[in-house]
Amino acid sequence: MAETSAKAPLPVVDFLKLPEGGEPYLEGHKCQSCGAVFLGERAICSKCGTRDQMKTVKLSNTGTLYVYSIVHRSFPGIQVPYVSAIVDLDGGGTLKGNLINVEPDPEKIRLGMPVEVVYKDALGRKDREGNSYLSYFFQPRR
Ligand SMILES: [Zn+2]
Repeated sequence: MAETSAKAPLPVVDFLKLPEGGEPYLEGHKCQSCGAVFLGERAICSKCGTRDQMKTVKLSNTGTLYVYSIVHRSFPGIQVPYVSAIVDLDGGGTLKGNLINVEPDPEKIRLGMPVEVVYKDALGRKDREGNSYLSYFFQPRR
């Protein structure tokens, strides 16, 4: 069997979009009635109840740290400690992800600190066919 050339990585979640030849981005769904932004497709706004007014939007790659937890125990093979964070993106959208490039030390992490979204390989994980995954992470903004 011929070796296939390196394929584009697969996104870890369906709201991470990988346009061909473009930069990856996170996609949200914005209510045209009240402006609320959600991750994942929906027909009805969870905030105001308006039906069929959700439009896809490209989410911002910057935001602020809402809350975090330093994880010291995880599944076998997962390196600890790491920082699990919830971030409010600028312009709407709230999501969970790992905060990287910061020491997992409460002295070094400040609630409300500015962060940015970065896209990287999902810690070397691969599926059965050997495809790699692209994931999103947060890191402190300088
Ligand atoms: Zn709404």
